[in-house]
Amino acid sequence: SESRLLEIRIMAYGDNQKLLLARDVTRLRQLEEMRRDFVANVSHELKTPLTVLQGYLEMMAMSPAMDEKQVSAMTDQTQRMKSLVDQLLTLSKIEVSTQVDPEHRIDMTEVLNQVHDEALALSAGKHQLVLDIDPGLHMYGDELQIRSACANLVQNAVHYSPAGTEVRISWRRLGDVGRFEVQDCGEGIALEHIPRLTERFYRVDRARSRQTGGSGLGLAIVKHALSHHNSQLDIHSTPGKGSRFGFSIPANLIVVQQTEKA
Ligand code: ADP
Repeated sequence: SESRLLEIRIMAYGDNQKLLLARDVTRLRQLEEMRRDFVANVSHELKTPLTVLQGYLEMMAMSPAMDEKQVSAMTDQTQRMKSLVDQLLTLSKIEVSTQVDPEHRIDMTEVLNQVHDEALALSAGKHQLVLDIDPGLHMYGDELQIRSACANLVQNAVHYSPAGTEVRISWRRLGDVGRFEVQDCGEGIALEHIPRLTERFYRVDRARSRQTGGSGLGLAIVKHALSHHNSQLDIHSTPGKGSRFGFSIPANLIVVQQTEKA
């Protein structure tokens, strides 16, 4: 017969009594898997026609017969759709990976320098980006996932804070954990939105996020990536002042490099 998946819970009750609860979650898991496969397939299928469209648009932009404004509007929209599809693919890739390689060492100095440089380009030099890292602090895990998590948080800080303000990225030891933080001086987030921010497509201000080109998937990606590294996102925000997004990497996943030489 086919195998079933049971979720078992043991609960203590009364004096020395135990209650065993079993729930058949086979169908639930199958449906969840189908949903994930569907999203992965759809985003994969959308990628090809989009690339073709982008190619033709590039050619049209060079033709003198074309209306420049219309071509540029089409190019913008295709670019938006392309980044949405890319984010969907990243999210579904991260969702299906159940276990990360505990042996893979991520060079955090390299990852964060790259994230910093990309954010600098995104901000077009309009923000003061401060990178405050411990160069001897690295970690074990999945590089694509950790890079996406850090990049999404830093990109958001740039998107949601005005020109001329500071965005501070830090990666340091805090007690025996590795602590990552991004602090911005942006508009902040009202308390009631905070618990829902990591939901797929949840955005505080839809119109505003559309302008910044956001997909609404960034923080969902961050949440899944961190959960695979026994970590979770914490958010502190003061409306009108700014926000701080951070996470702690547990002691068993961090690497403290010996800097002294023999
Ligand atoms: P998006 O692609 O819309 O940025 P995210 O999942 O990355 O989607 O973020 C979800 C929402 O959280 C954003 O639409 C925005 O409203 C809010 N948000 C995220 N980061 C910040 C930040 N640093 N400051 C203020 N609001 C933020």
